[in-house]
Parts: sequence; C-alpha cells; structure tokens
Amino acid sequence: MPIRTLTFRIVTCDICGDEDTDDVLPLYDTRQIAADNARQCGWLITADQRVICPDDDRRHRAALDDLMPPEPTTEVDGQLSLDLDLGPAT
Ligand SMILES: [Zn+2]
Repeated sequence: MPIRTLTFRIVTCDICGDEDTDDVLPLYDTRQIAADNARQCGWLITADQRVICPDDDRRHRAALDDLMPPEPTTEVDGQLSLDLDLGPAT
C-alpha cells in the first residue's frame, strides 16, 4: 500500500474556528479556490486575509464592527459639538 502525501486547503473562521462545511469537509487545491468558495457561501475574507464566517452572534458582529471605519465627524466654525456637556437642563 503506497503512502502518499496530499496537500490541500480548508477555510477556517478566525472568530469561532469553524470550517467551511455543512456535512463534508471540502478540500481545495488552491487558496484562491478555497477563498472563492467561502465567499460564495457568505464568508468574509478581508484584504489582510482575516476570515469571518456568516454566524451572527455577538463575537462575529463585533469583529465586523471592528472592520468598519470610524464615524465621520463634521466640525463647522461657530457650531457647538453635539457631544459637548452643557450641564443640567433648566
Ligand atoms: Zn465563525
């Protein structure tokens, strides 16, 4: 019986560690094919190669929120900032 070494890729979520599978663990020949298939299944792969599965729990939502840019702030000369503490209302 020959013993062979096979190399393949799987996709794993950076948040929960789950693999891109329902019943059968899919094995991919290349990173690109693995990434393309994961994206088609609703996974997010960021530019820096973070992988986030489509689970919708607190940890996954927090990871997605971290990817968002900060809220823009607009300052206009002579206008008070909305987060300025004006003291108790009278
Ligand atoms: Zn996950």
